[in-house]
Amino acid sequence: MMRILWAAAAALALSVPAAAQTEALGGEVGKQMPSLMEIYKDLHANPELSFMEVRSAGILAAEARKLGFQVTEKVGGTGIVAVMKNGPGPVVLVRADMDGLPVTEQTGLAGASKIRVTTKEGVETGVMHACGHDTHMTAWIGVARLMAANKDKWSGTLVMIGQPAEERGAGARMMLEDGLYTRFPKPQYALAFHDAAQFPAGMIGYTPGYALANVDSVDITVKGLGGHGAYPQTTKDPIVLASRIVGALQTLVSREISPLDSAVVTVGSFHAGAKHNIISDEAKLQLTVRSYTDEVRDHLLDGIARIAKGEAIAAGIPEDKMPVVSVDRNEFTPSTFNTPEFTEEMATFLKGRFSDQRVVQMPPVMGGEDFSRFGREDKSIKSLIIWVGGVPRAEYDAAKKEGRTLPSLHSPFWAPEANTVIATATEALTAMTMKLMPKQ
Ligand SMILES: [Zn+2]
Ligand SMILES: [Zn+2]
Repeated sequence: MMRILWAAAAALALSVPAAAQTEALGGEVGKQMPSLMEIYKDLHANPELSFMEVRSAGILAAEARKLGFQVTEKVGGTGIVAVMKNGPGPVVLVRADMDGLPVTEQTGLAGASKIRVTTKEGVETGVMHACGHDTHMTAWIGVARLMAANKDKWSGTLVMIGQPAEERGAGARMMLEDGLYTRFPKPQYALAFHDAAQFPAGMIGYTPGYALANVDSVDITVKGLGGHGAYPQTTKDPIVLASRIVGALQTLVSREISPLDSAVVTVGSFHAGAKHNIISDEAKLQLTVRSYTDEVRDHLLDGIARIAKGEAIAAGIPEDKMPVVSVDRNEFTPSTFNTPEFTEEMATFLKGRFSDQRVVQMPPVMGGEDFSRFGREDKSIKSLIIWVGGVPRAEYDAAKKEGRTLPSLHSPFWAPEANTVIATATEALTAMTMKLMPKQ
């Protein structure tokens, strides 16, 4: 059935008139699919956690080398950079992220991941490509093959990167800090795609402007004075204080941020105490804090520190036991901004190629993606990340009819229709890249 779906999608794509430069791509992608699916199955069955993507990076590096790219490994940890210089013209960067997640796969599929590891924190867990980065890597190889095979049809420098540790919000920063834009040609354009769990396989989504959020992780240690549960007057109860802080934090978004701006403050973890009749001396909170603009981000982070301290003062906590608020700057993911005019231009091009029905504008989301860093590094770089739908059409229709929610990205049940995602993404990314590098 999957093959029928792909054939239909390919036929639809080919029926649309496209520029002569990229006309034959649909057929070329079709020819690559059996071999790409073998690579996908291997990557899917062998996921690697963030910072450990050695095997995956090796597969990408070997493929690119065979195609004539100049490949450098270990850029920013396990990252790879593959450069193809093909005459004068712009520099275009195409990125795939490579890491899997500490999720035990429960799709029940024949090719499901059986990999288990013990994390640095000592937790034993399954590992799964629950975010679909295996489809990203496979399509990356598809793009590399098609660009190499069509060298006579474009002119410029192609920089293809395999990025580590997207899930930790660290990989893009590490590659940039390791000289991505100084040791290698700096791009004028940066492109990527992400598979999407909320719309049907083969659909392409685009969002001009802010598309994904600033993501900060904040830890608050609330200190108190412990004692017997029967003599609260002799203590300063950190659970009551932390509860007040959680309550007051709700006013940041509802009362301090403009209703026209987007923001999230979620307390995802609250830990304190050990026994019924003991007032503990500490409570720990973990927050995820999200926004689009830098101004809103700064307001939220300052506000969290102010509220924690203010509530502690109100509770009579002594000066040396004020709450400790820490923001993990290393795992911060800046918001993703798709250059608006460039996004519209690419969307029009993709609609001409794939049809108006398959290419649709999507609302922004509060998820995070460190692809943002490649464009933020220099405002002159035009960047765009598109969504490629992965839900099998029949499943999408059935879920809609029954009012059922579908598994999201990061779910142990996320099973994208990989061949359609890979074929669509390979064709879309290759077509866009070639359009940006016309033959001179
Ligand atoms: Zn993810
Ligand atoms: Zn992802």
